[in-house]
Amino acid sequence: MEPIICIDPATLEEIGRVEPCGEQKVKELVSKARASHPVWNRISMNERAAAILRARRYLLENIDDFAMTITRDNGKPLVESMSAEILPVADLLRWVATDGKKILSERPLDIGVFKMLLRSSSIRFQPLGVVAVISPWNYPFSIPVGAIAMALLAGNCVVFKPSSATALVGKKIEEMFSAAGLPEFVFTHVAGGAATGEALLNSRIDKVIFTGSVGIGRHVGEVCSRNLVPSVLELGGKDAAIIMRDADLDVASSAVVWGAFTNNGQCCASVERCYVDSSVFERFTKLVVEKTKRLRIGVGTNPSTDIGPMTTEAQLNVVAAQVEDARRRGAQILCGGRRPEKLWDGSVAAGWYYEPTVLVGVDHSFECVAEETFGPLLPVMPFEDEQQAVRLANDSQYGLNAYVFGGDLKSAKRVAHQLRAGTVAINECVYTHAIPSTPWGGVCHSGWGRAHGEFGFMEMVNVHHIHVNRLRMIKDFWWYPYSGKLYGILKRLSRTLTLGFAGLPRALPDLMRGFLRKKI
Ligand code: NAD
Repeated sequence: MEPIICIDPATLEEIGRVEPCGEQKVKELVSKARASHPVWNRISMNERAAAILRARRYLLENIDDFAMTITRDNGKPLVESMSAEILPVADLLRWVATDGKKILSERPLDIGVFKMLLRSSSIRFQPLGVVAVISPWNYPFSIPVGAIAMALLAGNCVVFKPSSATALVGKKIEEMFSAAGLPEFVFTHVAGGAATGEALLNSRIDKVIFTGSVGIGRHVGEVCSRNLVPSVLELGGKDAAIIMRDADLDVASSAVVWGAFTNNGQCCASVERCYVDSSVFERFTKLVVEKTKRLRIGVGTNPSTDIGPMTTEAQLNVVAAQVEDARRRGAQILCGGRRPEKLWDGSVAAGWYYEPTVLVGVDHSFECVAEETFGPLLPVMPFEDEQQAVRLANDSQYGLNAYVFGGDLKSAKRVAHQLRAGTVAINECVYTHAIPSTPWGGVCHSGWGRAHGEFGFMEMVNVHHIHVNRLRMIKDFWWYPYSGKLYGILKRLSRTLTLGFAGLPRALPDLMRGFLRKKI
């Protein structure tokens, strides 16, 4: 197989090569991971947590090296490599190793009146086996490391396939988990593109944690259902921000400019549609345009750059095509709408740059409003009242995040409760993926399942219910033989026992009759 050639999107220079993993090799590595699973599963949770903390220590000891690799491979500014990749991962690894242990420890269940019959239930969390983690290029570090660490703590082995567009970050993740001193094949990195991903999907895996586009996600879902392998699909977004008339316009406009253009808009949770109360529409839009024009576009390795290049040429072309479509149909482009010739430091823009773009005069029939852009493009539209704002925000095939900005929290919450999304943030946007205890995921075409938090851990385990009956010398009343008498007892218990403890006094005579019945 041809090596993956890694390109710095800021300069278009080659910065490295990575050997891809062919189909046979992928299958072999998955088998080895499967063979290592009993070893890893026998290791105590404390030791697994200690390994996660060793990975964290390695990251922090080599922090600048990690930041530079992320920036050069992906293009994002150094500040974002630190704020959106390394800092959240350092926090997440600590959280996994501490709170994760608590979340995954055995818990008793309240089984109501069945306790009176001397039974008990508890929940344990069993690992699934081999978990495949397939990830995108936009947050090439924080997205996969979260899934990998949670899967490992739960006792799974992991086979990880990063995007070929950020293969060097994939190598760094391999380096970090090697430093954790895991037993052989507990964590395996397989480099490559679609063919490697396809081979992984069709190997003997027990779960797929996929983050990527709707198109590939649909295919992953199809393969998984054919193979009866469960999946988490974290897919695209077209997140709306609603600006209420009582919002602090200065703060809200700064939030929206950051939310639309951080990581060059290549964020599943980017603000991709902004709806503004018509009474403040002009003032708000003016602020957004002024602030957008102040953003410094340049190479990400300069720590004062606000906007780096886009990560791939293909994504740049999607953005340019949506802008051209909007322009042709009469939208007003208030700033941006083209590739820059020069960067903020005066040098020639050699890489895949696109100016952050704000446009108005669009509606839901425009491609840039209906389809995911995944780039630096912000359509701003007015609304007349709360109901219209909710209707417009919900008028999308996606449902990942949504944002509401307003002064009166009661009204903002009323709007938030009506929005169809996995997360709704009030007076905030985009960043909650960085809080490891909060769930992340969407509805509709944004996928299914959850990453992070307790719900994310539940994706990594078999919920193992253990039920114990301490009345071991007595036969249950619902066992054989059946009779009209038993039917009558059950009929009365349906009315009494199902009321819980309140119904117990009335249920007792029937319980006695049932238990004292002669049984086979
Ligand atoms: P993509 O779907 O093109 O690729 C994602 C991963 O799938 C990559 O590793 C790729 O190599 C792999 N892949 C491609 N074909 C495959 C196949 N046939 N079988 C198995 N694996 C295959 O997505 P992308 O362009 O890397 O990322 C951008 C998309 O990801 C956007 O739509 C964005 O919204 C979405 N995303 C979602 C979230 C979320 O949390 N919901 C987070 C980040 C990105």
